[in-house]
Amino acid sequence: MSGRPTPGPGAPRQPAPGAGAPRRPAPWVGTGRRPAERVTKPRRRRPPDPAAAWRRRLERTRPGVVGDILDRLVVLHGRPSWERRLDATSELVLTILSQNTADLNSERAFQALRDRYPAPQAPVEVHRIPAADGSERAPDGWGGVGLDPGRPPDWLAVESAPTDELVATIRSGGLAEQKAPRIQEALRTIRAARGDDSYSLDFLADLPAREARDWLTRIPGIGPKTASVVLLFCFGTPLMPVDTHVERVSKRLGLIPPGASLALAHDAWLELVPEDRMYEAHVSLIHHGRAVCAARRPRHDACPLADRCRFLDPKAP
Ligand code: SF4
Repeated sequence: MSGRPTPGPGAPRQPAPGAGAPRRPAPWVGTGRRPAERVTKPRRRRPPDPAAAWRRRLERTRPGVVGDILDRLVVLHGRPSWERRLDATSELVLTILSQNTADLNSERAFQALRDRYPAPQAPVEVHRIPAADGSERAPDGWGGVGLDPGRPPDWLAVESAPTDELVATIRSGGLAEQKAPRIQEALRTIRAARGDDSYSLDFLADLPAREARDWLTRIPGIGPKTASVVLLFCFGTPLMPVDTHVERVSKRLGLIPPGASLALAHDAWLELVPEDRMYEAHVSLIHHGRAVCAARRPRHDACPLADRCRFLDPKAP
């Protein structure tokens, strides 16, 4: 056998190999530095999303309420089907003209733009919806009679017109002193973004919904309602324009928080409605606000939503 002899029971214990050997100094010794202490960073919390929180609350306290209400509105008012009526730039300008005035007035102002700044080469657009019996009606959600068939105005001429002249041209739309520079600013922004004189907003159709809305709302004077109208009606982008009817009916039914800002109302609806029902939801709520749930004298007796309405019963399911 080779190796070291095994010590007897009374023999002094041998130090273990390596024991007692000089220890290698810790790497920080002599450097004046301490080892990095483990620092527990406070967890970064995601900012709360009030729209998502509201959806979760509705799901918990009133399960299925949005789908049920939309189903009943379809029975009452019919199911609208989406079809593009105007190009997006015309829709944007028409919507700016309709701010704080009746849709009939904005129709007149838009027609005045067509007459004053004609664009003979542009394709004719048909705004009204033809019926099988030969009659016509205004587009879904529109409160006027609809525009006559016609070409979009020459947007370059509108943008370059003296602002006073433009104010005089659109005066029938009301608040012309505000709307004329707003329209010119919007046209300037579109032309700069495009890098040409086409004034086409079609590129917005390829952006995610909120990104497209953000792009439009960066133009001074364009809020989430106007942006959502343009994107929903021209491209079918799933956004909910919250106008006065949508806001009133939604709040009475308790589908958006009672004191919700317009920004929260817009985002809450995006949480509540599936994308493929957004257009239907918007148009149905407008129909309901105009025909049944009017601002002054809501017709509760004729309303199929009465048993789910928080305006009548604050604890309605
Ligand atoms: S019950 Fe009355 S307040 Fe409620 S949605 Fe119907 S009409 Fe409007």
